[in-house]
Amino acid sequence: MSAAALRQLAGLFPEELPLGGYRLEQLLGWVYGRGVTDFSQMHTLPASLRGELAAAFSLQPFAGLQRVDAEDGSSRYLFTLLDGQRTEAVYMPYAGHSTLCVSSMVGCPAACRFCATGAMGFGRNLSAAEVVGQLLAVAGDQGISPRSLRNLVFMGMGEPLLNLAQVRRAAEILLHPRALGMSARRVTLSTVGLPAKILALSASGPHLRLAISLHAPDEPTRQRIIPTAHAHPIAEILSAASAYQEATGRRISFEYSLLRGVNDHDWQADLLAELLRGLIAHVNLIPLNPWPGSPYRATSEAGLQRFLDRLALRGIPVSVRRSRGREAGAACGQLALAAAPRADSARGLSAQNSSRL
Ligand code: SF4
Repeated sequence: MSAAALRQLAGLFPEELPLGGYRLEQLLGWVYGRGVTDFSQMHTLPASLRGELAAAFSLQPFAGLQRVDAEDGSSRYLFTLLDGQRTEAVYMPYAGHSTLCVSSMVGCPAACRFCATGAMGFGRNLSAAEVVGQLLAVAGDQGISPRSLRNLVFMGMGEPLLNLAQVRRAAEILLHPRALGMSARRVTLSTVGLPAKILALSASGPHLRLAISLHAPDEPTRQRIIPTAHAHPIAEILSAASAYQEATGRRISFEYSLLRGVNDHDWQADLLAELLRGLIAHVNLIPLNPWPGSPYRATSEAGLQRFLDRLALRGIPVSVRRSRGREAGAACGQLALAAAPRADSARGLSAQNSSRL
């Protein structure tokens, strides 16, 4: 049987597996504790059970992966899916912790004009197994326990709320105490701002941290750079954000990529501060990350500082998010399946050759 025809174990809840008691805990320990994705290596399980599991399930949602390392220590992973399509994840180690940015789609239908992913169009939604599988594969390649990855962001390719059923399922597996046991406070979902879906998440959970890609405080500018803005006015997005905050008690992050001469005017900083008054919010200013064909330029450092100061002066918590992995094409808005920029910085792996994937 091909791997594609097998049930993808990483997309299932522990309760859905045909095992109980300590055998189930052993299996979960191998997969989520030790990152082993080859049933034949799970030597504490009886050989007959390993054979049954291998005949019924797969832990290989990818046909291969390529890793591109950036000089700042972050790594971009390009996954080839079983149907030949590709998607990406970015691993960012920091002192004392690390963050994994995963994709929810191949490409993205939202088509934001400043984003390389948006420019490549939409391929398809990822399954929950393909989302959780990104974490297992990265942990395996990094030689760390999947359960040691405590911070995850849905900020890679795709608009997660347009793939809500699979993203919700993946998130619940990430949070499941017998699977990865992550804290919902450390899992962030980044959305371009789809009010009805935010309300659905608010009503039914999981109550992840929410980051809203606002990028402009006025409708004309937002509609110019974000096509979905035509259907979803800022007032509706902020109203949904407010409802989400009321339901979850969580601070909302607002992402703001600064585009020179487009959304970085003083009056836009003032209007943004006005809009966010009353919300427990934090603004992340993102210097535009370059990609071939981008129609926009980054705001100058002085302009960025001025924008930040105006927000701070008006009482808005604000910081600058300098993206990791720029030279590897791994920074925010750069993900577009580009090949490795330098032959010596890419490490090719294949599912066939790696016991971890
Ligand atoms: S910024 Fe996000 S929502 Fe917009 S096109 Fe890029 S990946 Fe899609």
